[in-house]
Amino acid sequence: MPIFDPQTALAHAHKAAPDLLWAGLRYSRESTQTRAVRNDAPEKNETTLEEGAMCEVLVDGHFGYAATADLSAAGLQRAFDQAIATTRATSRHKVHAFTQAQRAAVKGVYESPTVTKLAATPLAQITECLLAASKAMALDPKVVNRSARAVVVQTQIDYYSSNGSHTQQSFDMVDMAVAATAAEGVQSQTRTWGQTGQHGGEVFHVTTFAQHGQRVATEALELLAAPNCPSGAMDLILMPDQMMLQIHESIGHPLELDRILGDERNYAGWSFVQAADFGTLRYGSPLMHVTFDPTKQNAFASYAFDDGGAPATREFLIEGGVLKRGLGSVESQERSGLPGVANFRSSSWNRAPIDRMANVNLEPGTSTLEEMIASVEDGILMSTNRSWSIDDYRNKFQFGCEHGRLIKNGKLAGVVRNPNYRGVTVDFWNRLSAVGKDEETYGTPYCGKGEPSQVIRVGHSSPPCLFKGVEVFGGQS
Ligand SMILES: [Zn+2]
Repeated sequence: MPIFDPQTALAHAHKAAPDLLWAGLRYSRESTQTRAVRNDAPEKNETTLEEGAMCEVLVDGHFGYAATADLSAAGLQRAFDQAIATTRATSRHKVHAFTQAQRAAVKGVYESPTVTKLAATPLAQITECLLAASKAMALDPKVVNRSARAVVVQTQIDYYSSNGSHTQQSFDMVDMAVAATAAEGVQSQTRTWGQTGQHGGEVFHVTTFAQHGQRVATEALELLAAPNCPSGAMDLILMPDQMMLQIHESIGHPLELDRILGDERNYAGWSFVQAADFGTLRYGSPLMHVTFDPTKQNAFASYAFDDGGAPATREFLIEGGVLKRGLGSVESQERSGLPGVANFRSSSWNRAPIDRMANVNLEPGTSTLEEMIASVEDGILMSTNRSWSIDDYRNKFQFGCEHGRLIKNGKLAGVVRNPNYRGVTVDFWNRLSAVGKDEETYGTPYCGKGEPSQVIRVGHSSPPCLFKGVEVFGGQS
């Protein structure tokens, strides 16, 4: 067994390149276990393990990287030699001259808050929950597909640098989903439930899974028999499991500083937000307060340090509707001169960090859901994201939900299927006219960006919100 020795590897880098200004090493190990059940039969039982190290150097004002899965002394030395050679060769094309100031020394420890560590959670307990959900969905022959899935991830990220950084972070993460599809003739409707965040075995309860299974199957059958969503401008209440997508696509992505700087223009896209907008743009109504919050308890993307070692703190991105701060790491802050956050994140040991969302949240307001419904004369309440489409400037969008409920004269009325709405980002957020006081936290492991591609975890907390006069429309199936 090779002995993993980061300090000797960092010393080698400085010896190998006397002009080296700084070196860092990020070790990561991630085990992922996936269990899936479909129509009462176990469908997937998979375990993967990834382990490796990213070697990072600063030469001639330029940061460069090389990754290796060979953690022996010789393997780490080879990776540092390669990182130094590549960085030296490419430094003449650098867009900015960086210094050690972008990698200040840090020390600390982070651990996901759990009641029962995933390592101590029997996988059979997870499978029992999935089977309980699947069985609870068998309410009617029209429920043609009953699926349940859980992914449990244990990650360790240790970061070292030649100027004395050493952080250790360990994460327990869970992503689970239950889905019922009801079908009749050419019509089909799917209803889902999910929970995603930093949790341990305490979230795997057979009764919780059975209750949600029964609810989603009941609602899928209701939707199958429901009329199509009406079209027209009306008041719209979005529940937290749709707000997460609204926040992600129309706040998170447009505020990424690397997009605003143009780095992502070829692939992920640009942004309608410009550097001059920070501090001045009225993004939304005065009720809109949006934070970057890596300290949020049990949220999917909480951490104490980003992958460049920057200490992660809660910051307001939008305050009282006014744009204050971007989602940009210390490098993007240095290049743009704009305020940012600790969001330099990589998806794996073999990816260099880039500007990512982490937890981006809409802060709770003062309204109850009942008060919001009571204030609507003619409107609709939508739950759970089903589809999304937004342009590459993150401006014009159209989103679909699984479940719609009409609101007539301050009261909930009938269920409608295929509810959709469309808008333009800044106009839409300025229609925000009530913010709920009770938030819920959701997340997704599937935020994609970067070349080569990186798919990363994000978290979003939000209460229900009311938007006035939104264009709503029905769909085909
Ligand atoms: Zn995304």
